[in-house]
Amino acid sequence: MKLLFILTVVNILLLQVYFLLSDIIMSMSKIVIDESKCKSCGICITVCPNKLIRYSKNTNEQGLTPAEFIDTEGKCTGCAMCAISCPEIAIKEVLR
Ligand code: SF4
Ligand code: SF4
Repeated sequence: MKLLFILTVVNILLLQVYFLLSDIIMSMSKIVIDESKCKSCGICITVCPNKLIRYSKNTNEQGLTPAEFIDTEGKCTGCAMCAISCPEIAIKEVLR
């Protein structure tokens, strides 16, 4: 009975460490957009679950407004939905 209690406590502690580490890793996630490849289709803007991508105010060499990563609060989870969805493969890195 005592062993079961100890195992349960250890299990809870390990879970807390896991969630803490997950939060830290998630807050370090980010993407890198290659503006020169971006065709301004807006798909990445639509699919990002945390609304972390918007159109830039600047234009690229094609005269298009490229997507811009805006994550001031570290909300990017590194889910890669944006990169997977980009038809131009313009989101060149998803760092986790
Ligand atoms: S990796 Fe996920 S959360 Fe981060 S910008 Fe892309 S879609 Fe949004
Ligand atoms: S999905 Fe790709 S091409 Fe479309 S706006 Fe986003 S980065 Fe640009």
